[in-house]
Amino acid sequence: MKGVLILSKGIMVFVEQSQGNIRKTSLELLSQASVIAGQAGEAVTAVILGQNIENLADEAIQYGADKVIVADAPQLEKYTIGPYTRVLKSIIRQEEPQAVLLGNTATGRELAPRLAQRLGVGQASDCTGLEYAADTFLRFKRPVYAGKALVYVSSKVRPVVATIRPNTFQAVARVPQQQAVVVKYPVESEAAELSVIIREVVLAGSKRPELTEANIIIAGGRGLKGPEHFAMLGEFADTVGGAVAASRVAVDAGWVEHEYQVGQTGKTVSPTLYIACGISGAIQHLAGMGSARCVVAINNDPEANIFKIADYGIVGDVFEVVPMLTQQLRKT
Ligand code: FAD
Repeated sequence: MKGVLILSKGIMVFVEQSQGNIRKTSLELLSQASVIAGQAGEAVTAVILGQNIENLADEAIQYGADKVIVADAPQLEKYTIGPYTRVLKSIIRQEEPQAVLLGNTATGRELAPRLAQRLGVGQASDCTGLEYAADTFLRFKRPVYAGKALVYVSSKVRPVVATIRPNTFQAVARVPQQQAVVVKYPVESEAAELSVIIREVVLAGSKRPELTEANIIIAGGRGLKGPEHFAMLGEFADTVGGAVAASRVAVDAGWVEHEYQVGQTGKTVSPTLYIACGISGAIQHLAGMGSARCVVAINNDPEANIFKIADYGIVGDVFEVVPMLTQQLRKT
């Protein structure tokens, strides 16, 4: 049965790796793809690009891949749009999957539209839901109008390309499939032409989780009153293993870097817990965190808009509430 599945078209997942580690968002995609493939009687193919990354195949199999295609070459060591698009397009043409899924990360957001354009197919961006549909195989859910409405997208054109928001699904390890296969893809010809040469990648120094993949986010807004008070949020975040984020006002004021901004013109996040500290809850901010599973708002204005969408609200002064919470949580 499994041998037949591997031959079917199935779902392809672009497995993003950074410094030899698979990103959590790719494991989430593999897990969900495996659930859907099971319902449809199809297979999941993971595609990993990089250098010296063959060892990652086992992890991809553990999280749901029936087949892993490894494109291992010096030209692919660091992500660059040209070679990655070329190699991926060739693999897609060869495998003819029904769908190609990528995480809605900086890389996924750049690769997906270019791939879709090169393949002459449609793309669904920043999806927050993905399910099996008997008529079109897959149905994607995505927020529109800054999160005010949801649309469901299907396509009969193959393959459909989609980016899925990190933290939309759980990454679930399973008993590895004995029949899963690992295939090396010969890269040389496609990746030979480099459009960009990356000389050095400098990683941000933070030990905290990457914002879009964090399970817990502590976000601060104008209510923090100045850059020095973001240290207080940092302590809170470190206590609970979370990441720090900010509203646009805090970013525009120069209190924190733009990479921490959540919202319509910042990052979109889907954590399990989002704690908004001194943030009013403007629609543009909600557009970036509306899909958080649980929202806690700390605000001294009981009429603040954020309380309308919060699961739990604390009416109070952030400078009293945040240190108190940090202290209490340290004890647990
Ligand atoms: P405010 O709205 O000023 O709210 C501050 C809150 O802090 C208030 O509710 C106040 O009651 C509370 N507060 C004050 N002191 C305390 C205290 N001591 N303790 C507790 N609470 C306190 N915004 C984003 O965040 N992200 C975006 O990506 C984004 N994109 C935008 C795009 C466009 C095109 C436009 C027009 C706007 C965008 N904005 C965005 C801006 C957005 O409209 C709001 O201006 C912004 O989100 C407000 O930030 P804030 O909640 O920190 O500040």
